[in-house]
Amino acid sequence: MHSPTIIVLAAILAALVTTVLYVVWYFNKSIPGLRWWTLSFLCASVFCTHLLVRERLPEVASVVLTQTVIALAAYFCFLGSRLYVGRSLPFHGYAVAAIAAVVGVSVYFTLEHSHTGIRFALSGLVAGVYFIGTATTLAHGGVRKVPARYLFSVLVGAHGLFVLLRPLAFRLATADSNGLGVPNARLIDLLSQYVVLESTVALVMMAFGILMLTNEHITTELRHLAEVDPLTSVFNRRAFLTLLEKAISQAERTRQSLPVLVLDLDHFKKINDTWGHGGGDDVLRQFVLLANRCLRKEDVMGRLGGEEFAIFLPNADGPGAQAVAERLRILVQAQPVQSGPQSIALTVSIGVALCVRADSADAVLKRADTAMYLAKQNGRNRVEVAETPLFV
Ligand code: GH3
Ligand code: MG
Ligand code: MG
Repeated sequence: MHSPTIIVLAAILAALVTTVLYVVWYFNKSIPGLRWWTLSFLCASVFCTHLLVRERLPEVASVVLTQTVIALAAYFCFLGSRLYVGRSLPFHGYAVAAIAAVVGVSVYFTLEHSHTGIRFALSGLVAGVYFIGTATTLAHGGVRKVPARYLFSVLVGAHGLFVLLRPLAFRLATADSNGLGVPNARLIDLLSQYVVLESTVALVMMAFGILMLTNEHITTELRHLAEVDPLTSVFNRRAFLTLLEKAISQAERTRQSLPVLVLDLDHFKKINDTWGHGGGDDVLRQFVLLANRCLRKEDVMGRLGGEEFAIFLPNADGPGAQAVAERLRILVQAQPVQSGPQSIALTVSIGVALCVRADSADAVLKRADTAMYLAKQNGRNRVEVAETPLFV
């Protein structure tokens, strides 16, 4: 295929992909980074379209436009990746200075000493660095958890490397003797075709990558909504039960104990009646924060409903779990919840139960719940431990 045909194809693809990304962004404005990625493709589109009319433009105008849009495309791609992973935008001054320097030096090597090779190397420099920056920014979060990020990262990283190194290939091709027995002019022509082809393939692949990232983000958000209690940000009942079932079979396999706590706030109805529903909500949120101060990273907390919570503690035994429950009870009693100007006193009743062989999540929760009701009966603000059955 001849270069002009590939260029027309690239211009059409770039325009199509930019339109698709714009439409996706228009309907999913909450996806972080998507706006910058769309702008990045707009720059790529401008670059490809410019290649079609390059001959009719003054050379210096073509050089300025080319260097600016190539660098901006890579920089916007980098900005999108920063926002996507939850980082802030960097100070734009460095990028503006780098792009201005590249454009300035390129103009010099157009007007004073015309040198296509140097201009080509310069265009790859800023773009390559920002594409590799995009790849390293995205390669976080665990490949099993966020595979699309890693796939996109590999694509962008490979393109960045190619963009950085391709001037070297041209340098070799323009050397006095390229050692391949191919005439230099033919080799340069071939390389030019491969450069345009690689850029076109990279363009399409990166667009697919961005659509995959969009899908990954929406899926993660939906999973979060389905699993997490919106008020307190702990797992909801269904997600907690699923995790508990998994933890029970893991504990059985490794023959470790698995204690479960059921916690119910005392006289919560009275708190609502006295301080209003907003005060009650503040109490629920801050109770979770207090609980987290007593828990380890691997401990899992869920909201079973209303003002009732549960926690399971992998790697803890019965006495250890009882100590955690006691510590939490004392902390809650000692730390009144601040709700606006009001200070709301709070206590909690806790039941502790230990999983036994072939236990189910429901069965162990029921025993912990019975122990919690015993704590209520015995005067509240207490910890009670359920008797562990020999077998279920
Ligand atoms: P006890 O000490 O026996 O546990 O009494 P209690 O008042 O805590 O228990 P009860 O079950 O009588 O009342 C629970 C209250 O929790 C009733 C319900 O309106 C309130 N509640 C349930 N969900 C929420 C919520 O999301 N926010 C607020 N503010 N209140 C809630
Ligand atoms: Mg209660
Ligand atoms: Mg209750």
